[in-house]
Amino acid sequence: MKKLIYMMSIMMSLILVGCSGESKTTSTSDTDQLQIVTTLFPQYDFARQIAGDKAEVTLLLPPGMESHSYEPTPADIIKINKADLFIYTGESMETWAHKIVESIDSQDVYVLDVSQGVTLLGTGIEEEDDHDHEAENHDHEEEEHTANDGHNHTYDPHIWTSPKNAKVMANNILEALCEIDPENADYYETNAEAYQLQLDKLDQELQDVVANAKRTTIYHSGRFALQYLMKDYGIDYVSAPFEAEPSAALVAQMISEIKANNIPAIYYEELIDPKIGQMISEETGAQLLLLHSTHNVSKEDFNNGVTYVSLMQQNIENLKVGLD
Ligand SMILES: [Zn+2]
Ligand SMILES: [Zn+2]
Ligand SMILES: [Zn+2]
Repeated sequence: MKKLIYMMSIMMSLILVGCSGESKTTSTSDTDQLQIVTTLFPQYDFARQIAGDKAEVTLLLPPGMESHSYEPTPADIIKINKADLFIYTGESMETWAHKIVESIDSQDVYVLDVSQGVTLLGTGIEEEDDHDHEAENHDHEEEEHTANDGHNHTYDPHIWTSPKNAKVMANNILEALCEIDPENADYYETNAEAYQLQLDKLDQELQDVVANAKRTTIYHSGRFALQYLMKDYGIDYVSAPFEAEPSAALVAQMISEIKANNIPAIYYEELIDPKIGQMISEETGAQLLLLHSTHNVSKEDFNNGVTYVSLMQQNIENLKVGLD
């Protein structure tokens, strides 16, 4: 009987439009709702938009917490092991993920690297491979690191900051849901199509903002994580190197360029006290504005129900000011 259901679920999944791939699992879980566990806010939000009321989606990163220093607690690891679907950004973001992935029984947990199909950009930072492969019991050859196995620390993990990549990520989540729960594939498809339209709208608005802008360069006073957004829409930026704070020399350079060119805005990132941005703003008269990189949101924003789309819409409004 179980075999028959399995065969039927394969047949069901094969005829679905947009849900490619074959069904790997026969049943969901003992509870009614699928259990989805996610690492960062973007895939948490994409998953809840697409899974709707068919799933309970958990964000491992506590709201307000800095995402790069996050490591899963033992309780988090139990949650991941009990999940039907575990979604992580990729090994360049969650460098701990491959240890967990290797430790869980992939028959029970569908593990999704949501960066599949996204072209990664470099960070410009050269870093030695510093982890101990003996101790980690890695099974790959050393050459795989130089051939980019995803955790050689030279890739920018902030793929979601461009709506174009968000579309790929959302589609990866849809395909995973269709494989895990083919019975509800139509429901997921419908939600995903509606969500893709919202992402398309962001994409179009960004193109329009840049097309109508007087300027092409923005100034960012914080730890810059928006390379994918900037590259995809052709916006130039002056900022510190990858996720570093600007040096005193760079701050001085920004102040003089902002004054000389009447740059209207100086940007800062979320979840910090923007001291440097505040100082540049006071020094130059440029408006201090947020560009939210959406790794994570504050507790207040989380409770107020902000979404990736609402945060990006605010970014678009703020970009309009800075590019004017
Ligand atoms: Zn490595
Ligand atoms: Zn390795
Ligand atoms: Zn980051």
